[in-house]
Amino acid sequence: MEAAGWKVLLIEDDKIDQQAFKRLIRDENLDYNYTLAGTIAEAKSILDREEFDVIIADYLLRDGTAFDILDSLRDTPVIFATGAGNEKLAVKAMKAGAYDYLIKNPERSYLAVLPLIIKNAVNHANMQKEVKSYHENLEGLVKERTEQLEAEKELLSVTFASITDGIIVVDANKRIVLFNKVAEILAGVKLEDVKGKEIDDIFRLVHERSREIVKNPIDLVLASGDVQTTIEPDIIIIGNGREYPVSAAAAPIRKPHGQIGGVVMLLHNLSQEREIDRIKRDFVSSVSHELRTPLTSIKAYVETILRDRNMSEQTKHEFLLAVDDESKRLTELVNGLLEIAQLESGGINVLKQCVDIQVVIKQVASSLQQAAKSRKIKIQVDTFETTQQLLGNESKIRSLISNLVNNAIKFTPEGGMVRVGMQYQHGGIVIYVSDTGIGIPKEEIPKIFDRFYRVHRSGRQIHGTGLGLAIVNEVAVIHGGRVEVESELGQGTTFKVFLPLFDRNEFETSGAKKCTAN
Ligand code: ADP
Repeated sequence: MEAAGWKVLLIEDDKIDQQAFKRLIRDENLDYNYTLAGTIAEAKSILDREEFDVIIADYLLRDGTAFDILDSLRDTPVIFATGAGNEKLAVKAMKAGAYDYLIKNPERSYLAVLPLIIKNAVNHANMQKEVKSYHENLEGLVKERTEQLEAEKELLSVTFASITDGIIVVDANKRIVLFNKVAEILAGVKLEDVKGKEIDDIFRLVHERSREIVKNPIDLVLASGDVQTTIEPDIIIIGNGREYPVSAAAAPIRKPHGQIGGVVMLLHNLSQEREIDRIKRDFVSSVSHELRTPLTSIKAYVETILRDRNMSEQTKHEFLLAVDDESKRLTELVNGLLEIAQLESGGINVLKQCVDIQVVIKQVASSLQQAAKSRKIKIQVDTFETTQQLLGNESKIRSLISNLVNNAIKFTPEGGMVRVGMQYQHGGIVIYVSDTGIGIPKEEIPKIFDRFYRVHRSGRQIHGTGLGLAIVNEVAVIHGGRVEVESELGQGTTFKVFLPLFDRNEFETSGAKKCTAN
């Protein structure tokens, strides 16, 4: 039996029609859960409480028409019933949303088809419900997928922004689609100002020396469909602002069917590599120059001694002393260079020893006492009552203090004074070396830590390699510290080295031994 428990509401005030419907249910053995409403008001109050699978509504009732309930019943199929001759009304009802209509004839032959109409109405409504829920599901899926796409887009744009190379995307007509931040800097433009414009109007790639225009890899990709990399090392990009040395590579962006939809180009800024190359070249040429000077003198002295057979013993002795001096200078230079190379390569163990700075200061002062005395310079060592040990590399810190005290002695006229000591300051210590020497001109101070840099002074040049302060600075840096200078020409100079005390917690958790205060 069909119609398993379907809820049917009959809105009908004609007693005979009501009876006929009941009889139909009984005779046909229809399993309807059937409710009767005799007026529109009654129907409305029932519909407020209950839902039905189908409603059969007579058109005209005492207190209104079936149209009065049609509007509020969008999801429940309504079968509209009118008397014969009222077909127009039936059409109007269908337009208003009724599912079907019945023309009630006096013989009530319409009852024969009513079960079928009800069945179709209920099935239709169920199907619609299914379609609706499918749509709702689909909406959920679309929303979820849209959110996913948004998140992917966000990730992509963050990725693009953080890539250190310039990324440029153009369409198949070379019109700009995307510039990431680095590309904006290289071309000197903002994406919002150039979007949609042709790439050749925004920047050019040229050979650095000849200034000839290089074929843009984007053109090569569009012509060949292959990945292109420019191999010439001397290409620069000329955009709106500065020129940058770059290397460029481009690749096609293919549509699903294989045709080229656009091109992505990568611009690698070579400025930093060039700067490193320049520093390396300068260094090699400085080293060669510094080594050549003493070697040339040695060679000249030795050649003169060899050539001049009649040279007096006295002169020969003086020349040999000069050779000895120059070879000492060569040794100092080579040792200094090795020390810097070792510091810069990070190959030394920095934070392994507990260093008592006071002790190191005293040792350095006493080892340089003789040199100071010979120039009638007094070294004063300030002592501090308690001392905190510092975690570091003792021999490097000794080298730092020794370079500073050595310079102080060298650049202080006879009768002067050199003072060296240490203080505590904000979680670290300060080693200071001050002198009453010749001072350093203000404009030279930023350069004195450069390798081989020596201040040019009138009169006799003071012997040196120009590497001492470079070593001082490097030792401070690898201990997490820094160096400061205060100087007054003719008055004296003070170097201060700030070194942080090692973070105790970090040190203890690393399982290493910690330095104790004594
Ligand atoms: P150098 O081997 O020439 O001493 P440094 O790197 O130690 O090389 O020092 C660089 C330059 O800084 C020196 O040539 C000198 O002119 C200047 N300088 C360093 N220390 C002092 C100082 N205490 N007083 C004056 N000038 C100094």
